[in-house]
Amino acid sequence: MVFVPSRYNFVVQGDGPSAALFNAFSGGLMILEGRDAGELGAVLLQPGLKFAGDEFSPDLLARLRAGGYLVPESRDEVAEIRERFWRARGEAPVVITVTTTMDCNLACYYCYEERSASRLKTGEIDKLVTLALESVAASRRPALHIDWYGGEPLLNLEFIEKASMALQAACASKGIAFVSSIISNGSLWPDDVESFIARHRVRQVQISFDGLKAHHDKRRRYRRLHRPTGGSAQPSSFDRAVALVDRLVTCVRVDLRFNVDRENLEDLLPFLDFARSRHWFDADFPAVFQPARLAAYSQSSSFMRPLELTIAEFDDARAQVRKNTGGIAAVEESEVPDGFPYPKTTVCAALADHSAVLGADGSIYRCGLQVGEQGRAVGNLHDNSPSRRKGASVLNSKDGEWWQSFDPTQQPTCSSCSFLPICWGGCPKKHLEQDQHSLREQGRYWRSNLPRLIAQAAGFASGPRDTEFSEAVQFRISTDSVDEPRC
Ligand code: SF4
Ligand code: SF4
Repeated sequence: MVFVPSRYNFVVQGDGPSAALFNAFSGGLMILEGRDAGELGAVLLQPGLKFAGDEFSPDLLARLRAGGYLVPESRDEVAEIRERFWRARGEAPVVITVTTTMDCNLACYYCYEERSASRLKTGEIDKLVTLALESVAASRRPALHIDWYGGEPLLNLEFIEKASMALQAACASKGIAFVSSIISNGSLWPDDVESFIARHRVRQVQISFDGLKAHHDKRRRYRRLHRPTGGSAQPSSFDRAVALVDRLVTCVRVDLRFNVDRENLEDLLPFLDFARSRHWFDADFPAVFQPARLAAYSQSSSFMRPLELTIAEFDDARAQVRKNTGGIAAVEESEVPDGFPYPKTTVCAALADHSAVLGADGSIYRCGLQVGEQGRAVGNLHDNSPSRRKGASVLNSKDGEWWQSFDPTQQPTCSSCSFLPICWGGCPKKHLEQDQHSLREQGRYWRSNLPRLIAQAAGFASGPRDTEFSEAVQFRISTDSVDEPRC
């Protein structure tokens, strides 16, 4: 049999004469030892080379084959990634994101959402239950996850209370497991926090911070309409969020999302110390720290560009966070939530065949970041035809068909990229909008971070701090043919 190196091999040099060989398709990691390690690594980075197999010892050949580093010449790795991708779309759990209201009590300067008075009404609960049950039935997985979303979802507490009970009752009658999660600014919760979590089977809460008190309160002011009575005697939005997290960590996982940009970067590490001093990371339910780079999500938020950190600056900030936590706190990196660049086997909710995002006006979207965006809805809760009502399968907008057929293995750049198995094209919304700026950042992320992740997994003492993979490695092309950034 004739073998060729997988096009998804990557090699990182260790401190001594060793090298780590990583395969992004299989997730395999192998340490090459000895004087020939570098030479073997270089050979395995050339997908066109052919081997009869007898060039390697039987033991080495078996290991190279088992890890997917050497593959039969006839094997079509891209086709296999495509199969994996479509299986993930079909098998994804059902998540219905419910925008209870587009209104918010805070006025964050970067908020991309149009604030409006639209809110879901209790009279629409039956339709929500129907949408959820239809989605679960279509998925053939007896589980439903409701993600309460806004605006600030707790501004429509009455809807959450009643809809949650109706959904739970419907699920119980059909043997469907029910869980929920909430994305909130943490300033409007009911007094019975612990029983609220239990009553609504909340298994995860995301609370957003914009820094320590001074920055947070300045950037997250109460809007005039929603200003608490009692003036300055009332707790600020920071104080309220902190008091809430103190209680949440006793009963549920909390994701501390820290929105960072040029203005509040100085608070990033002090905020970690603050969280540690309040025992959020060693509580009954240890909180997870999620630094998030504030970036323009759409044309309407392009005003944010001057304050955006570059990817390199953000990576640097995250590196400092990792160093600073010293293993005490879980720090989540959205691209590699498990800390190792596993080949992807799941898709985001926007690509999940049976998930949907319900807007506060009854519109149905594929991605939560599209809520309220004119012309991006793919269905409507009030449509009487199940197939059209369910955002996952409607074809009543030009976007509907795009979402149904999106496949990174068919994108010209992604299909020729060696990060494909661990990236799957990144955020599909950026492809939909042809946001070349963000797509190039995705490639940049992997080129500068994958060496570190491989070195860390290989146990190399000092990661290749200044090493980056080149575009030539990313696209397996000669250095001469890289004329302009592809991704
Ligand atoms: S790094 Fe860029 S080209 Fe590669 S798969 Fe991701 S988005 Fe596509
Ligand atoms: S399309 Fe992008 S922003 Fe929307 S859910 Fe998927 S990854 Fe997230």
